[in-house]
Amino acid sequence: MLRIENMSVAYGHHRALDNVSMKVDSGEIVVVLGANGAGKSTLLKAIGGMIPAGNGFKASINGLQIQNKKPHTIVEAGIALVPEGRGVFGELSVGENLKLGANPKRARKHENKNLKTVFDLFPVLARRKNQLVRTMSGGEQQMVAIGRAIMSQPDIMMFDEPSLGLSPLLTTEVFKVLTLLKKTGVGILLVEQNARQSLAIADRGYLLENGHIGQSGLARDLIEDEAVRKAYLGG
Ligand code: ATP
Repeated sequence: MLRIENMSVAYGHHRALDNVSMKVDSGEIVVVLGANGAGKSTLLKAIGGMIPAGNGFKASINGLQIQNKKPHTIVEAGIALVPEGRGVFGELSVGENLKLGANPKRARKHENKNLKTVFDLFPVLARRKNQLVRTMSGGEQQMVAIGRAIMSQPDIMMFDEPSLGLSPLLTTEVFKVLTLLKKTGVGILLVEQNARQSLAIADRGYLLENGHIGQSGLARDLIEDEAVRKAYLGG
């Protein structure tokens, strides 16, 4: 389980996250909804150790404390981030990108099993194993990014707006993959602007408003909530 307590992040004088607490269990999808600039990417980067959070916060995965740890240590602890913009290596092939994902110690002995999982989820990647990633479509690059994260043998996967720039059809496909991953026992922290589809696959949700958590609850209750419908679901 991923547990975050009292996480605050400031960029200079701008407080981007203010005392955020949340948890993600294994085998559940938790969505964080928020407008542009609400702090969603900041939250994932701070959990991943890419940006520092202020003193006094706690973060742990399966009881192991990870606050103030370096990104590679956090990956070793079992957290993988699929960043906004994907962060894939365009000059490397699909296979090489996936292999890089298997670099953490925890992942090495599971490389073949995880590669099979990735190719089962995304058969197109198996067929395009030798293709340079920069020559692939946005949707295919998103698959590579998700595949690379799977290769690191995560217990928790964090997705930063995976539907951004994808067609409705591909968006549906990516969201389907998230539900398949959840069934394998991975806990998923999903940051999205696509509230309708993400609430439809999520177990629970948090609303992030100007850096702090507003409402939170079961996804099926949030979908019915009038304020949520007004703010995120177009009335
Ligand atoms: P979006 O959906 O538009 O990506 P977001 O919810 O992910 O938004 P963040 O990217 O986390 O929002 O940004 C939160 C706030 O922090 C914004 O006001 C943003 O301008 C500010 N911010 C983010 N990164 C930096 C930075 N490196 N330096 C200064 N301010 C930043």
